Amino acid sequence: MTPEFAQDLKASVRAIPDYPKPGIIFRDITTLLGEPRAFRRAIDELVQSWAGSKIDKVAGIEARGFIIGGAIAHQVSSGFVPIRKKGKLPHTCVSMEYALEYGTDKIEVHVDAITPGERVILVDDLIATGGTAEGAIKLLRQIGAEVVAACFVIDLPELGGAAKIRAMGVPVRTLVAFEGH
Ligand code: AMP
Repeated sequence: MTPEFAQDLKASVRAIPDYPKPGIIFRDITTLLGEPRAFRRAIDELVQSWAGSKIDKVAGIEARGFIIGGAIAHQVSSGFVPIRKKGKLPHTCVSMEYALEYGTDKIEVHVDAITPGERVILVDDLIATGGTAEGAIKLLRQIGAEVVAACFVIDLPELGGAAKIRAMGVPVRTLVAFEGH
């Protein structure tokens, strides 16, 4: 990625201070998605690492991970698997509790979404503490996936999420980083 494009991509993400609560800067990717060049280049950059390697499924985390993950799945000619908050998927699910800043929540995936041994890439818009992605990787592994990588448009490195996911043995690809959280 050229430094110019990295700069453009970073500038295309809108910062919303004190959302959803005081002290949080919400990194809003709707502005990036709305710019045709930024959206296409972001997807191109994220898939570049797997050019030539076989990917069976892209798993996206609700809800912004569906947009990025759907575009990546199309580009690498793989299937798409939605990972959703509890109670949203209609068929039999497996679920996984994951850590939030305060407390826990549950994510789910259809029990038959992956054929054991399939090579899967996990996708979300942003990684912060890594709790959501960690839960998603455990969930995917539970149904037999080989999680070959996790990718995110935005990294908040001070919160340590990417390091946590790498420590699980999953390579992480991110495009832009912001200080703080
Ligand atoms: P975490 O589990 O802490 O890595 O949080 C990641 C999830 O929360 C992702 O689904 C993000 O979309 C969302 N998220 C966390 N922090 C932010 C932020 N500052 N701006 C936008 N989304 C965030």
